[in-house]
Amino acid sequence: MCGLLCAIGLKKAGIDVHIFEAAPKFDEIGAGVGLGPNALRALKELGVLDAVLLRADERVPTERSFTFVTGAGAHEHIYDYPTLPQDVGIGIYRPAFLEALLPLLDPLITHFNKRCTSISCSDQGTHALHFADGTAHETDLVVGADGIRSVVRNFVVKNEPDPLVFSNTVAYRALVSADVLESAGVKTNLRQRPVCFVGDDRHIITFPIQGKKMINIVAFSTNSRLLVGSVTIPLPWVESVSEKELLDEYAGWGNDARIILGHIQQPSKWYIHYLDPPLSSYIHQRIVLIGDAAHAMAPHLGSGVGQGFEDVFVLCALLGHPNTRKANLEAAIRTYDSIRRPRANMVLRQSSMAGEIYEAHGKDGETIQSLRHKLKGIWAPVWHHDLAADIVTVMDSLHARKARL
Ligand SMILES: Cc1cc2nc3c(=O)[nH]c(=O)nc-3n(C[C@H](O)[C@H](O)[C@H](O)COP(=O)(O)OP(=O)(O)OC[C@H]3O[C@@H](n4cnc5c(N)ncnc54)[C@H](O)[C@@H]3O)c2cc1C
Repeated sequence: MCGLLCAIGLKKAGIDVHIFEAAPKFDEIGAGVGLGPNALRALKELGVLDAVLLRADERVPTERSFTFVTGAGAHEHIYDYPTLPQDVGIGIYRPAFLEALLPLLDPLITHFNKRCTSISCSDQGTHALHFADGTAHETDLVVGADGIRSVVRNFVVKNEPDPLVFSNTVAYRALVSADVLESAGVKTNLRQRPVCFVGDDRHIITFPIQGKKMINIVAFSTNSRLLVGSVTIPLPWVESVSEKELLDEYAGWGNDARIILGHIQQPSKWYIHYLDPPLSSYIHQRIVLIGDAAHAMAPHLGSGVGQGFEDVFVLCALLGHPNTRKANLEAAIRTYDSIRRPRANMVLRQSSMAGEIYEAHGKDGETIQSLRHKLKGIWAPVWHHDLAADIVTVMDSLHARKARL
């Protein structure tokens, strides 16, 4: 999602771009993704929001804030996260996002079956990307948008151990029809807004997508007795599990939660990984990381893609700036790092903390009152940041110092 958006944004900024994709075609998993107000602002700045909304079955963004209820018992109401009028977002089926973006992309710049295996640097400062099929491509700037298991990241964090760790949390993901769940007796309103069922080491997120016809479900379960990073999970980090295993995991949970989980057919279990510690740089020479390659985070604030979109907006604004030249590319990407790294790393850390809040209910004397208190304002730093103002501030200060960029 981030690489494609970046190619479109750079091309619009008049930059010669090529995409090298390891897969034989663009593809996305059949699940939903929530995009908050900050993600939509980035899409708007990049001029693609209308195209995305057309495919989102939600022509007008709606309130995205969560209702929190207990997972066990009668799903006691805990908290409705309050919103300002501008706190709107969308839930979108991931393949629909690709369908929205693909018509905006020049097919001639896309190269499939190109798995990048290494990057080398010439004396002139250009980089050569080397691919598994034995070919190579020389370029002035590499943008690594190659996801959580980024190869490009190895060339940015060269002398540090890979910070990608297993979070000790697994997620079961599914899409189920809202009509089916309601007919089966679910009383919680899953269509109106996202819902988080909280519990001891477990929580379930639901949100409506596809015009509120389908409910996107992600059920999380954590082994909090383990230290993060102490367990290594073999690839591919996704496995099929029985319906019984899933229901056993949520033994003792309330009626609606068990009906929702009982409707997940052929469940799959995802081992959630993230970067810990966060990267100390998103750049090296003329290599830049965006999206999960830079800041893979736990999904508990629903903000991984949104942070990637912010990366793209800032990178395109800087690289497309009239003062940016080949000669000052490195200054431009240092500016990118200075704007994006503190913010995205903050969201990365807060995402893990949000997961701990959702899974504290029923633990160590945690009451509904204290939970409510901790939930207050958790999305504010993600949703209410003015990224465009950051860019203006950086440009002004560079201008004042008479620096080119
Ligand atoms: C359970 C779960 C729920 C989530 N929910 C949300 C949510 O609601 N909202 C939100 O904002 N985020 C959410 N996220 C996070 C979000 O999914 C990620 O942040 C996002 O998909 C990252 O996008 P990306 O473009 O950076 O990477 P990817 O989508 O992983 O894309 C990487 C691309 O690079 C290609 N590639 C990989 N290696 C190479 C190589 N060596 N050479 C060439 N190509 C390569 C891949 O084929 C792929 O096309 C969730 C994550 C999980 C696990």
